[in-house]
Amino acid sequence: MPQARFLEFISQEAQKYPNFQLIMGANVQELIEEDTTIRGIRYRGHGGWHEIRALLTVGADGRNSRIRQLAGLVPVKTSPPMDVLWFRIPRKPDEPKGLTGRFGKGHILAMLDRDDEWQLGYVIPKGGYQDLRTAGLEALQKSIVEVVPEFSQRIHLLQSWSQIAFLSVESSCLKKWYLPGLLLIGDAAHVMSPVAGVGINYAIQDAAAAANTLSTPLKARILKVSDLSKVQRQRQLPTRIIQAFQSFIQERIFSRALNSQQFQPPAFLRLPFLRNLIARLIGFGVFPVHLNKSNQKEQQA
Ligand SMILES: Cc1cc2nc3c(=O)[nH]c(=O)nc-3n(C[C@H](O)[C@H](O)[C@H](O)COP(=O)(O)OP(=O)(O)OC[C@H]3O[C@@H](n4cnc5c(N)ncnc54)[C@H](O)[C@@H]3O)c2cc1C
Repeated sequence: MPQARFLEFISQEAQKYPNFQLIMGANVQELIEEDTTIRGIRYRGHGGWHEIRALLTVGADGRNSRIRQLAGLVPVKTSPPMDVLWFRIPRKPDEPKGLTGRFGKGHILAMLDRDDEWQLGYVIPKGGYQDLRTAGLEALQKSIVEVVPEFSQRIHLLQSWSQIAFLSVESSCLKKWYLPGLLLIGDAAHVMSPVAGVGINYAIQDAAAAANTLSTPLKARILKVSDLSKVQRQRQLPTRIIQAFQSFIQERIFSRALNSQQFQPPAFLRLPFLRNLIARLIGFGVFPVHLNKSNQKEQQA
């Protein structure tokens, strides 16, 4: 499911819960703090400033989390050796489906099938973006056609740098994901590198683990800091494991490929058993989380 449609899907599903409310265009700018506990947020939206008070505030506001910053929580960063340029070009119906990739001279091209378009991730060594801009768009087009000659007749459709989004690849994790009255989840707690595309999966599993652990104390309206720490304990290890795996792939494959003119992927990637294991790890997560059925039924009733 494309990401934009997935967000619509989630909000439609959430409308089934009688107490769910979605406020669009709300930009959270302040935390309400009283007696060293977070009691809610203030946001700018339609008609100016608004306030929402809550027993628990969950910061799920992504890699540049404002809530994380306001709470004074500082993530520990690692530094992946690469950056990515994202862009799209048309895809023909008879071309391969799914995800594929090609190794070029000093770059890697990840190709994601999006029906009538290819979403392309052009992976470069960290800090190499300015050199690429200086070399010019034509040089970029040429290097793409070198690894995917099939694109030679349509690469001219990539006409301007404004069609290309630059992603500075980051990876980080907070030491502590919570304060009294506040919990951070998803990228706000741990920015994921795009390697293996697990960021959305991990963000959703954090939310599911939080729902499982916190529904009962929230319903009783007695929320302890130890309840919040339980959520971190459940999710921290799988996050660390997958980030270590991403780091391994970045060093063993991406870094070597980006620094070599002739790269062969390591033989272990061709072992079917290992390939399946990696696919399971990526697809389901290290310790898959499932929503407690009892919570779900009670909420919908
Ligand atoms: C270019 C790129 C490609 C990626 N590709 C993949 C992929 O293929 N597969 C994959 O699994 N992961 C991918 N990721 C990673 C993935 O997008 C994230 O890990 C995932 O979206 C994290 O989910 P989240 O809910 O924590 O944060 P986000 O999805 O970033 O959502 C945060 C939300 O908070 C909102 N917000 C931010 N600040 C405020 C504020 N002050 N007030 C109110 N709202 C606010 C934002 O508008 C946004 O809607 C990619 C990341 C990037 C940058």
